Amino acid sequence: MIESQDNSRTLSFQPVTLSILAMATRFEIVLCGDEFDRLRAAGEEALEEIEALDRQLSRFRGGSDISRINATAAREPVKVEPGLFHLLELARDISERTNGAFDITIGSLMNVWGFEYDSGHIPDPSDLEAARTIIGMKYVRLNEYDFTVSFEHAGIIIDLGAIGKGYAIERAVEVLKNAGVTSALLHGGTSTVYGLGAPPGQRAWRIAVKNPKGSNELIDDIELMDNSLSVSAIHGKSFIDGGHEYGHIIDPGTGQPSSHTRLAAVSGPSPTITDALSTALLVLGKEEYKALMSEFIGYSEIIINN
Ligand code: AMP
Ligand code: MG
Repeated sequence: MIESQDNSRTLSFQPVTLSILAMATRFEIVLCGDEFDRLRAAGEEALEEIEALDRQLSRFRGGSDISRINATAAREPVKVEPGLFHLLELARDISERTNGAFDITIGSLMNVWGFEYDSGHIPDPSDLEAARTIIGMKYVRLNEYDFTVSFEHAGIIIDLGAIGKGYAIERAVEVLKNAGVTSALLHGGTSTVYGLGAPPGQRAWRIAVKNPKGSNELIDDIELMDNSLSVSAIHGKSFIDGGHEYGHIIDPGTGQPSSHTRLAAVSGPSPTITDALSTALLVLGKEEYKALMSEFIGYSEIIINN
């Protein structure tokens, strides 16, 4: 989806490259500078932060905070640490600002469409209707006085698949900055990429966005300097039935996989926000996304319709 241009070819030294598997994808960090050991230590610390967030945010990991919320918040309020509480508040805010196109209570719809473990299938109509009745951030109560989360309905499933990788990149960037790193490129599964500073001697990190329609054609070449780029696409995970492609990004309003837009990319300062917005833009229609983006100052988009 996103390909980094080979910035390293023009460098006079070898950058430090580290990677891990987390959040069901590969995260990679490229660090530039001249103190190899210091860069490596900073990169490892940033990757540890990402692994810790995977353990906290995955709805598929038994001991995670999100599993704990999903299992018990309909019965009693669940206390969470401030970082996660603020992430949930941000998710609610983006949900309101996107008229519900972005909604982290999407989990039950993901399950009935079969996207949680495999590439998906047409749901049973009654399961689909049941899942639709428990979608909505309005059913999630966030109590800012004691940092607790409670659900107003049994069965609600929070799924941070559309925002978690961006949040992990944002937290990893903080770790790198605190360690004094001034030039690095980070990405999670190539769907969110952040350019910290610029490669030595260059203006910015250059990132190419590929055309999703199969060819190797590049649709844009984006410069990132202390900026993030996120891409959401139907083909990230999809199945074909009756000649129609059903993708893993679901319109919470209709309960159907979004199909009018093939790819949505958003760039801007916060990777958490670019990640959430690229998913929202894939759901929103053409008219609506223009109005939405005018409210997010400093963010811009690329849309490829079907
Ligand atoms: P992304 O690749 O960042 O666009 O995220 C896609 C993932 O977000 C899916 O695999 C689901 O886990 C989740 N998701 C699907 N539809 C939505 C939606 N409308 N709002 C929020 N999350 C969603
Ligand atoms: Mg996203």
